[in-house]
Amino acid sequence: MTVDLVLKDAKVFTPNGIFEAGLAIDGDRIVKVAREANLPPASERMSLDGNLLLPGLVDIHVHLRGQGLSYKEDFYTGTAAAAAGGVTTVADMPNNMPVTMSVETVKERMKAAEGDVVVNVAFYSAFPEKIEEAASIVLEGGAVAFKLFMSKKVGGVDPRDSQLLSRAFKEAASLQVPVAVHAEDPNLLEERRAEALRSGKSDVEAYLEVPSPGVEEAAIERAVKLAEEAGARIHICHLSSSRGVRAVSAAKRRGLPISCEVTPHHLLLTVEDLKSIGAAALVNPPLRSRRDVDSLWRALRAGFIDVFASDHAPHRLEEKSLPIW
Ligand SMILES: [Zn+2]
Repeated sequence: MTVDLVLKDAKVFTPNGIFEAGLAIDGDRIVKVAREANLPPASERMSLDGNLLLPGLVDIHVHLRGQGLSYKEDFYTGTAAAAAGGVTTVADMPNNMPVTMSVETVKERMKAAEGDVVVNVAFYSAFPEKIEEAASIVLEGGAVAFKLFMSKKVGGVDPRDSQLLSRAFKEAASLQVPVAVHAEDPNLLEERRAEALRSGKSDVEAYLEVPSPGVEEAAIERAVKLAEEAGARIHICHLSSSRGVRAVSAAKRRGLPISCEVTPHHLLLTVEDLKSIGAAALVNPPLRSRRDVDSLWRALRAGFIDVFASDHAPHRLEEKSLPIW
């Protein structure tokens, strides 16, 4: 049998390790993974020069722009960037323009993306104003999960309103979809921001004082408590600090349905890089101390981090250079 394409001289990543091998592809299917001698004849043979060959990667945390934010990025450039990095499925966050938070806005966003994406795209929604409409966002709109920003209101639920949050978690639990949580406590953030403003400082270091590791930890603990009461499955986005790791591991040890992710920037950069790179390295949550980064690596090596995610969220350089308050 002659297949369409053989990719040879690759290091093939498999669940059992990395092997020097190649792939045979016929039509749209991989028909064989084997050492070169065992690969079938092909219409075309291509050498991968010993490069690593991975399955398509999945990035569950991206902010594709498009729609009202197309000046930052559109669906084509965003998904092309994913494809260039080997990512074949991305999950799109809801803080868009308009915010994805209803059947209409999910459908509108899917329609805007249609024909303009080069990888698979799944869509998150924010919780709607009327919690009872959450079901239709999933069942009719096709959203795969909810995203909850605990730092500020995005969508219909004010994160300071525990009663409403509790209803939202219960709704997600009954729909059997997870809630991805941006864990920063809104009240602590507000207090610390007011304090920083009073101090009159407006440099990057003053900015970093506000979203502290304690702000992350407090939000994780609150989300865990609410989710546990509601029976909801939660996913903690972009874990960034040692205190955050501690809060998630406490919940995991109790057997709660919780997962967590880290981003490459929180693993590979520290606050020292922010000081040398400047505003372009401002991310949310911010880059942390060496001690925090070490703790993320320890958690990763211990098999405790479930997901790598990029938190891809492009801005224009001017936007990152604005005054921080
Ligand atoms: Zn994000």
